[in-house]
Amino acid sequence: ATPMSVMVGVGKAAEVGVLIRNGAALQTASRISAMILDKTGTITLGSPKITDVLPLGSFERQHVLRLAASLESGSEHPLALAMVASAREQGITPGKLSQFNALAGHGVEGEVEKHKLLLGNEKLMRERGINPDKQLETVQALADEAKTPMYLAVDGQLAAIIAVADPIKPDSVDAIRRLQKDGIRVVMITGDNRATARAVAAKVGISEYFAEVLPQDKSRKVQELQMAGEIVGMTGDGINDAPALAMADVGFAIGTGTDVAIESADITLMRGSLHGLADAIAVSKATLRNIK
Ligand code: ADP
Ligand code: MG
Repeated sequence: ATPMSVMVGVGKAAEVGVLIRNGAALQTASRISAMILDKTGTITLGSPKITDVLPLGSFERQHVLRLAASLESGSEHPLALAMVASAREQGITPGKLSQFNALAGHGVEGEVEKHKLLLGNEKLMRERGINPDKQLETVQALADEAKTPMYLAVDGQLAAIIAVADPIKPDSVDAIRRLQKDGIRVVMITGDNRATARAVAAKVGISEYFAEVLPQDKSRKVQELQMAGEIVGMTGDGINDAPALAMADVGFAIGTGTDVAIESADITLMRGSLHGLADAIAVSKATLRNIK
């Protein structure tokens, strides 16, 4: 395309809240054959709420919620913010956190009032020799409802199952359908567990998803699709997504996402809505038509 038609395209996109940082990306967008969408904060709102607190054994509800919130006060993960906010709403004051460790893709660990705490997914529990088998049925039922279940262990003992749910953005279903109608293969990617991923994907009409992907492995999934011959668009909002956004043929950041994601992307969706993707692709196609 001529510089002039690219400028016109960039301007048209801006009118609908799509910021194009690089003209080459505008031209590549028309050729995207596969679009990878991050789950949390991209398809969903990214502000999960606690839905279930299930204390185990002799542990009590208020106690486990307080311990979990105390531990999560050390983390900036959306799940952690949900936990801390929920506890506060219920009048719970977190205890003092000493020692804290974020375990990427797994959860968090730390010490609160002399208790060693571990909070996270099944993989984390197994890695620490804690057997969650008795809870698997309960956890599966929560995940089938598109909730994210977490295990809390106190001094090496399972103390609670805590689940959160992150609402899907109201227009994600329509926006995804638009991409599919354009003939684009839409794939969801998430660090979340397989069952939750399957449930969320089903709700938004996506049949292909990568689940339990460690943060450092997201960009590899982009490469896998590229090596299979796809022109890959990647859409994400998190620090986790930055390498994948940079690797993709066209990276799209959610405007409400982290600065790192925005800096790594070619295009920013200022309105947060996934409709910006089909809008950008339409502008791209119009731009190329103009010059033929
Ligand atoms: P995503 O952003 O897609 O949820 P992450 O890699 O950040 O992926 O997290 C993957 C999983 O690790 C989460 O679904 C959760 O089970 C666990 N996890 C990560 N961080 C935390 C945390 N702060 N508290 C509890 N669990 C966590
Ligand atoms: Mg995200």
